[in-house]
Amino acid sequence: MKEAKFYENKGEYVFCVLCPHNCKIKNGSTGICKVRKNINGVLYSLNYEKITSVALDPIEKKPLFHFYPGTKIFSIGSFGCNFRCDYCQNYEIVYGENLAIDLSIEKIIQLEEESDSIGMAYTYNEPTIFYEMVEELAKEMKNRGKKNVLVTNGFINKEPLLNILPLIDAMNIDLKAMTDDFYKKICKGQLDPVLETIKLAASKTHVEVTTLLIDEYNTSEDEIEKLSYFLSNIDKNIVLHFSRYFPKHKMTKSATNLNTLIRAKEIAQRHLNYVYIGNVFGFDNSTYCPNCHEKLIDRNFKLEIVGIEKNRCIHCGLEIPVIY
Ligand code: SF4
Repeated sequence: MKEAKFYENKGEYVFCVLCPHNCKIKNGSTGICKVRKNINGVLYSLNYEKITSVALDPIEKKPLFHFYPGTKIFSIGSFGCNFRCDYCQNYEIVYGENLAIDLSIEKIIQLEEESDSIGMAYTYNEPTIFYEMVEELAKEMKNRGKKNVLVTNGFINKEPLLNILPLIDAMNIDLKAMTDDFYKKICKGQLDPVLETIKLAASKTHVEVTTLLIDEYNTSEDEIEKLSYFLSNIDKNIVLHFSRYFPKHKMTKSATNLNTLIRAKEIAQRHLNYVYIGNVFGFDNSTYCPNCHEKLIDRNFKLEIVGIEKNRCIHCGLEIPVIY
């Protein structure tokens, strides 16, 4: 447990301003995320140094396809979330307070140092609600010349986001849908703050976006157009991952039709240069040059950079936004 950042104390209540829920929390209670608690007027982070998951993952699993392709990243998660997605694909972890073990900041750093990793990814559950732990670890990683990756739902207020961004080398941000209705009904969140996070983060660090497609919920042609057009207005080179949904947690609807994913990719490619499909075995997710269509990164067998030199396509010379 550690005193939280980003709150105000007003009488018997504290007001947490970490995320746009802006919870008003009375003494002895927690906010919507259930991991920030008012104890006698002081707000505490309950998941500080509490870890549910540790793994050395391929960077592509975050997913990040244009950030040190082919490398591995030490990944940690805690518990809790400020959303309540009906289809949460990680609900065992998100609600897994009982699974958590105590791991000090020093021990986590030591484990990362012993691994063959480019740095640390804060992932599995929503990392912005274990903000204090992310900030401390990220500072240590930076001091050691390592990378920090945030895999997030993007539901964070502007001030804490601006505070953490200088430490973050890459983000994968979920854009769950393009309707506030979906965010409110299915996730108990809001759309606009997420759009603001994507815009702000993309101006400061490397950002890739993931949309989990669920047939009939967020897959209309109009919605896919809107989503990819929004991203292209920030930068046509923002990488978009369409991920296949599988029934989990409270949602029993069958897995996303493969044709839906393929169609979504075709629509998004009208606006964006790099669109990939995830959670589908055997799909070609190689990177191709958006100008001459030659292969740049082969992801079919062993990952290999085959068509990029000094950040340019070796065939046509187009600048390719891949950090490696
Ligand atoms: S971080 Fe948690 S307590 Fe703070 S505003 Fe968001 S949901 Fe509420």
